[in-house]
Amino acid sequence: MRIVIAGNGFAGVTALETIRAVDSQVEVTLISREARGFYSPASLFAYMEGRVDEVHLIMRDAAFYERMAVETRFGREVRRLDTAARTVTLDDGATLTYDRLLIATGAVTRGQGIAGSAAQGVFKLDWLEDAQRLLAWPLRRVVVAGAGRIGVELAAVLRERGAEVIMLEVKSTVLPGVFDPDMAALIHERLAEHGVEVRLHEGLVEICGDPVQAVRTERGEIACDAVVLAMGRRPNVDFVNPSQLALGAGGGILVDKYLHAADGVYAAGDCAETWDLSEAGRRAINGVIPTAVDTGRLAALNMLGRPTAYPGSINANVLIVFGRAYFSLGSLEGERVQRRHDGIVERFIVRDGRLVGAQFTGETRAAAQAQQAIRRSISLREPFSFDALRRRIFYPVRVPNPNR
Ligand SMILES: Cc1cc2nc3c(=O)[nH]c(=O)nc-3n(C[C@H](O)[C@H](O)[C@H](O)COP(=O)(O)OP(=O)(O)OC[C@H]3O[C@@H](n4cnc5c(N)ncnc54)[C@H](O)[C@@H]3O)c2cc1C
Repeated sequence: MRIVIAGNGFAGVTALETIRAVDSQVEVTLISREARGFYSPASLFAYMEGRVDEVHLIMRDAAFYERMAVETRFGREVRRLDTAARTVTLDDGATLTYDRLLIATGAVTRGQGIAGSAAQGVFKLDWLEDAQRLLAWPLRRVVVAGAGRIGVELAAVLRERGAEVIMLEVKSTVLPGVFDPDMAALIHERLAEHGVEVRLHEGLVEICGDPVQAVRTERGEIACDAVVLAMGRRPNVDFVNPSQLALGAGGGILVDKYLHAADGVYAAGDCAETWDLSEAGRRAINGVIPTAVDTGRLAALNMLGRPTAYPGSINANVLIVFGRAYFSLGSLEGERVQRRHDGIVERFIVRDGRLVGAQFTGETRAAAQAQQAIRRSISLREPFSFDALRRRIFYPVRVPNPNR
């Protein structure tokens, strides 16, 4: 059997490791558009801050791929997929046949179609090369378009590097749909305190000049010498013909609970549309590392003929903004139960007697446990008090007291 994996990110590498943990014989080819070993895109902020260099950013070196006995096609992109012939064609014209194909090509920044986005001085942050291009540009006055997770963290990093930063957000809060408005307001305040100018209800319309000299927004013109597009990400599946593989409303490859998309084809990570556990199984792409790792592992088992169902994902966002942590997990719909003290907010979101979401400021240690509790969909007894909820979530196992 020949397995082809397209993508050397969390999903692709986890799939590769899972395959080799189970089967040392199956032939595996790994394709990646980047000509380097696996790294975490989440570490790009640390790289830009100078806290990690390129050598230490790379998490899997050449020896790893040798140990995995995998044929690598690094620096190559999949350009065409033919599900009937079971082939993928690469940008160098090579055609590879597969018995099983895993598509794990991740996601890319939206907004490349905005007028002027091809000008010099316009950036995005998907890959290491994007971070390197950004750092090589004289960043004096930068417009960050979009106040989502990547836009907010990037604005903070650029500000810390001494740039004047103006962040545009078309909606009424930063991190819309990720945090409740009052929590988002705390993050907005933190950005403003550190000198990031946040402009709400103001979307990017056009980028002017080449190299960039200004942006035009719905409200006027802002002079700048760099623009970073951070208006959300979309599944990176341009090579997929929708007549061969069904795409969902979010543009991701629709998979069943075995991560199976079509005859011999599986998808995992940011390019796969699965479902959200905290939203009653609604179709979703929760583009975060735990989802990519889980789906990569399970897709590999399913490709090897070991049926293993994927239960679904939950949205999870952990941000560090000027040294302070904020996290948001799961749904925003439900009853709030919370505690505020010393500038810290701890909030649980409960719906139909179950924990469906959580938002915390200032503390990330709780994130993993809260995530587990949402995944387990633990049921809760009314009336919901903060302390009872906290105990139930963080100390779910009762330890018998030998003295009783
Ligand atoms: C700047 C940044 C910060 C982030 N921070 C966090 C965080 O703090 N926490 C968190 O949970 N998530 C974070 N994320 C999201 C997280 O990185 C993704 O959810 C995760 O990397 C998805 O894994 P993946 O394997 O699906 O895709 P990726 O890790 O994006 O890997 C995709 C792979 O596909 C390859 N590829 C792309 N196109 C092709 C093609 N046509 N042919 C062949 N290969 C191709 C790429 O080279 C890459 O190897 C962040 C993302 C970014 C960009």
